[in-house]
Amino acid sequence: MLALPIASLLADRQSKVEKIIENEKLLRILAEKDHRKAEEAKLQKMRLLARDELTGLSSRRHVMEQCEQALHRAQKGNRTFSIAIFDVDNFKSVNDQFGHAVGDDILRMIGKICKRTKSRNHLIGRIGGEEFLMLMPNSSIAEAEAHVERLRLAIMDARLLEPDIGVTVSAGLADSSGFHDLKEMLLLADKALYAAKHGGRNRLEIAA
Ligand code: GH3
Ligand code: MG
Ligand code: MG
Repeated sequence: MLALPIASLLADRQSKVEKIIENEKLLRILAEKDHRKAEEAKLQKMRLLARDELTGLSSRRHVMEQCEQALHRAQKGNRTFSIAIFDVDNFKSVNDQFGHAVGDDILRMIGKICKRTKSRNHLIGRIGGEEFLMLMPNSSIAEAEAHVERLRLAIMDARLLEPDIGVTVSAGLADSSGFHDLKEMLLLADKALYAAKHGGRNRLEIAA
């Protein structure tokens, strides 16, 4: 007579315990899902920060970080790398003549050419309005020169279809040998770019 309510009490308790375990499992799954979602959102944010929205090339931040890392590796392993800064020639007059939207189209076109022309281990980022930085790991200055020239000629040969216009770029090139500081290296590449502009544009100069 007494056994029956106890048995039913025990069964009731058992089912409550099972329910609690089930709920905890559910909560764990939900927490894991939330964690995965947060991780994915973080990754997505990092991807966005690494990319220049207009051209689809690397962002200034990303290419600069990669240059810093390349410099560290070069100092440790004695491996030379090269960088080139290139800048669209007379870009202001493109904007003035055809409007800012066409200027943007030109920048997008340059982004596409860069992606198509660059080697797989090279990285190109937009570091300013119409200014780009190309990182060429394990490249001597002579190898880098050939790469940048190929890109310069590809840009020179390209045309925007509507309106039918083209642009050229000037570039300054520097290699990492003897450098301990990225700022110094960039400054030298920038000086070479300045020389290319003053030498008549649509050309490449190597840092002295
Ligand atoms: P140089 O050959 O000496 O480089 O001459 P430049 O006209 O290219 O150089 P300048 O610095 O005088 O002008 C750069 C112009 O680039 C001015 C600015 O309005 C334009 N610009 C900068 N960023 C963007 C952008 O994102 N989109 C467009 N359409 N224009 C931009
Ligand atoms: Mg310019
Ligand atoms: Mg400029």
